[in-house]
Amino acid sequence: MTSGSINHIGAALQRVKHQVAKHASCGGDHSLRRKLLVGAGIAFICTSILAIGVIGRSFDDYRRARQNLRGLESYRIILSAANLLSAERGPSNSVLGDADVTHGALRERLAAFRARSDAILDQLSAPSGAGVPADLLKPVRAQLLEARQEVDRVAAIPRERRGLDDVQSVIEGMFKVVDIFQSVVAWKAGMLMASNPELAEPIMTGRIFSDLREYGGRIGSQIMAPIAIGQPMPLKNLIDSNRTRGRLLELWSLVGDQAVASRGDPRLALPLRDAERMFFGEGLGIVDMLIAEGRKSGNYAMTADQFTVRFVETLKPLERLRGVFLDVAIERLTETRTGALVILTVTIAIAMIILAVLVCLVFAAQRFIFGPLMRAREAVIVLAEDRPTVFHHERPHAIEMRRLFDAIGILRESLAERASLTRQLKQQAETDGLTGLMNRRALDMIGESQTSSRVMADGVCLILMDVDHFKSINDRHGHLEGDRVLKETIESIRPMLGVNDLFARFGGEEFVILIPGRDVGEALALAERIRRVLETKRIMLSDGAMVKVTASFGVARGSLGQFAWRRLIEAADAALYRAKSDGRNCVRHSQPAPSLVPDIPDEPDLKKPPHKFIAAQ
Ligand code: GH3
Ligand code: MG
Ligand code: MG
Repeated sequence: MTSGSINHIGAALQRVKHQVAKHASCGGDHSLRRKLLVGAGIAFICTSILAIGVIGRSFDDYRRARQNLRGLESYRIILSAANLLSAERGPSNSVLGDADVTHGALRERLAAFRARSDAILDQLSAPSGAGVPADLLKPVRAQLLEARQEVDRVAAIPRERRGLDDVQSVIEGMFKVVDIFQSVVAWKAGMLMASNPELAEPIMTGRIFSDLREYGGRIGSQIMAPIAIGQPMPLKNLIDSNRTRGRLLELWSLVGDQAVASRGDPRLALPLRDAERMFFGEGLGIVDMLIAEGRKSGNYAMTADQFTVRFVETLKPLERLRGVFLDVAIERLTETRTGALVILTVTIAIAMIILAVLVCLVFAAQRFIFGPLMRAREAVIVLAEDRPTVFHHERPHAIEMRRLFDAIGILRESLAERASLTRQLKQQAETDGLTGLMNRRALDMIGESQTSSRVMADGVCLILMDVDHFKSINDRHGHLEGDRVLKETIESIRPMLGVNDLFARFGGEEFVILIPGRDVGEALALAERIRRVLETKRIMLSDGAMVKVTASFGVARGSLGQFAWRRLIEAADAALYRAKSDGRNCVRHSQPAPSLVPDIPDEPDLKKPPHKFIAAQ
């Protein structure tokens, strides 16, 4: 490879390094990392907003389902209370029709029914129960107290003295309790339907079932007074019971249809059939029979208690119907609530997973892509800038990154190889192959450049040495032996030089010693020492013959620089010429000292031919 192509490679490398360093200083890593973080942040915020929206909607569904369920449960308690208040009429009627004023077991049954009514009213006002306002329950309790007092008062009158109106008014007092309580039912139903219209259907149907039980009981109570005191059935009772029957049939036509009432649930089928058979068949049949008897006389086939016991049995399917219907409705709402809770949980879980995946992706991108990329970038910059660094060969997880680091490793090795090759080539280009000394080219580069050698910046002395009659050594012993003589000569001079002295082959059998400093006396002394050493030295050739060489020396003083160098060489050459002319094997000093001439460009003297001692380049 020529020195020109080496220089070309060096320049190209410098250009590449400069460009890489320029781009590296643009802060690309920060920008990339910031973009990643900003992008991830936006994605995180968008996903969070989306998740909050979806979770919020699911949570609303769940909250509404839970509210509906609680509402319907408290509505069921209220309807149960209405049912118990109605049911209290049964034992009251029995007591009113009883001949024994102490009433024995009947009173005990009545006390048990009253205790049940009181307990459920307490439950209604409790905040954990249906939470019915005390204002609404107050008139119910007052009417209940009054009606019960009336029941007790009339029941304490011996049966034969109990008037029809007394008994009738007591029974109506009990009706009034349930009538007043309807305001509680209406309050709850209205509140629930207002908060959630989809509850209207179970609320209305539940209420119809509750009313069926209420009017079912009421029709019995409406004919109870004459039976209780053994009197014929007055027309008013007949009319009242007929009106109630009409209402019952009307209500039944609304919900008695299996398909309507059962809402597809088979559990309602049995109580529907039972209600049809027992109440509308058997129960109303007993009522018809007693009315027919009462129309004829005051002799009834049943006592008030017997009628109550039998008739209440027929009401039970109506109670069951209401209970099962509300159970089914509540069960459906429970399923809806559970479904909403499952959807809510799944939605939250999915949202969390998406956010977690997003965060993991950012970390993974940072750790497995951006981190290695930044390190790869740093490694390439270090390579481009030729900075000394300890290289850890990285083995990232991702195969693509591994290949990148492998490629950087290969690049590093080939660059190191190329650098070492370049160094070798440079050294070869600047070194003389035979003697290992610096060659003429390298010497001229140093000489022509003022800045290349700091120790010689203040001035130099140059010794130009030429082996005497070397041609005859070649002629006598051959070229190879001549080479050997040259090498031996160099080896005997080398130890005599200082560390800052430069020793170069000027060409052929001519050598240059460049000494820092302006002390020409020192240079002359060194040349003289070398001359003497060579003079006394005997060089053994390969055939055992001993050869003696002498040399002539031209010494000059000057400085480095493009023009000064040329003058210095010319001065030394002139001195050498004189040494040769003066008989060889001597040292001559150039006159005048060329170092005193300033380093300014001058016109080369074309007329003067180059001295024969300056070797061709
Ligand atoms: P003078 O005393 O005038 O310098 O006589 P000289 O014979 O040394 O000078 P001349 O210029 O006539 O011959 C120089 C010779 O040196 C000619 C050439 O063959 C020989 N020479 C030049 N370089 C080498 C080399 O590398 N090896 C060998 N063996 N001989 C060389
Ligand atoms: Mg010579
Ligand atoms: Mg010569």
